[in-house]
Parts: sequence; C-alpha cells; structure tokens
Amino acid sequence: MNQTNRTILLIEDDEILQRFLTLALKTNGYDVLQAKEGAIGLAILANQHADLILLDLGLPDMDGIDVLKEIKTISTQPVIIISARGREVDKVSALDMGANDYVTKPFNIGEVLARIRVALRSVPALPDILFEYQQLKIDFEKRLVLVNDQEVHLTPIEFKLLELMVRHQGKVLTHHFIQEHVWGYHTVDDYQSLRVFMASIRKKINQLSDESYILTEVGVGYRFKE
Ligand code: CA
Repeated sequence: MNQTNRTILLIEDDEILQRFLTLALKTNGYDVLQAKEGAIGLAILANQHADLILLDLGLPDMDGIDVLKEIKTISTQPVIIISARGREVDKVSALDMGANDYVTKPFNIGEVLARIRVALRSVPALPDILFEYQQLKIDFEKRLVLVNDQEVHLTPIEFKLLELMVRHQGKVLTHHFIQEHVWGYHTVDDYQSLRVFMASIRKKINQLSDESYILTEVGVGYRFKE
C-alpha cells in the first residue's frame, strides 16, 4: 500500500515567499497546492484534498480572516496563519475563527515546519487512495466514483459526504457528526438538507446498481454498509 504524502495548500500572494515555502515544504516531503488569491484557494479546497492550509492574512482579493471563515465552512483541516500582522488582536481573532496556529512574518522556516508537524498529528493520514467495496470504487486522489465501472458524478459536498461515510465504514454516524465534519458546524434538529444530499447520492448510485450502500439509522444518522 502506498502511503501518500501529506498535501499542504499554501495561500500566499507574495511570490518570493511562496517559492521559498513551496521549496521548503517539498524538500520535507509534502505535496503543495498553491493559490495567490483567497478565492482561488477556496476553489482549490472545494475540489481537491489538502491535509493542512497555510494562510496569509494580507491577500489581494479578500481579507484573510474572511478566507478563514469560508475555509471553516467547507473544511475541517487545520489552518495555520502566516501573517505580517503581529498584533495580539489579530492573532486572537484568527484563533477565535478556528485557526490552529499563527506564525508572524518574518519567520524561521524550522519553526513553521515544526508547527505543521504538530497540527498534522491531529489529522489521520489517508489510509488508501483507492476504496473498493462490491460494485463501488472510489479514487480519493482523483475524486472519482465508479459503480459497475461507470462514473458517478457527485458534487463536492456529495463527495465529501460519501468519503466521510466510507472512511467510517460500518459505524453509525450521527446527523450531528456528519454536519460537523462536512460543513464545520451543525444546525440543531434541522437535518433536512443532509437528507436531501444523502437521497441524491443514493439516487445517483442506484442508477447504476441495486445495492444500497448507505443505510439510514432512523432518528440517529447513517451508516455505510459493511
Ligand atoms: Ca500577503
């Protein structure tokens, strides 16, 4: 089995700093995704897997704090802020918004790498690139879902939901747990949109197979068949 490298999304507009960080990260065995604007970083995050996000607060198109807020609605991965803003109030507001850590420019690269290692300890590594169960195949790297060797087109949210279910195969996941992991928050007793997404995933799978992979645990949540 191939142990995949951890992937880091670097959102930083300063070209020199971006090149320097990318080189340092790659030298240390990380894969790097790059974005020079907040909106581009968010678009990458919606479509590709990143284990950790390094986020600059001073970006040309959006305030980094707003980027952080958006990240938290679509991802549960750790975010480390890299910023020239050294004021306590900026640090506190970034940490309040869910950032895991904060590094002030100019920084020591060894310190950044150490903080990345600490933050990644809380993130389980992707155990496999490929998942296969009965007629279902998932390639997590390519974000490809096949049923009976035919592609199922899932939206980014649907893919995230299916991935979460598969990674906890056999376990009952509560509505609350699923909302927290997919959207980063949960709405008390309002699981209607979750039901709609699950119904859509099932419908897409059932067009190609009679198998029911996602089981409903009435009043509790969902479970991926084992
Ligand atoms: Ca900047």
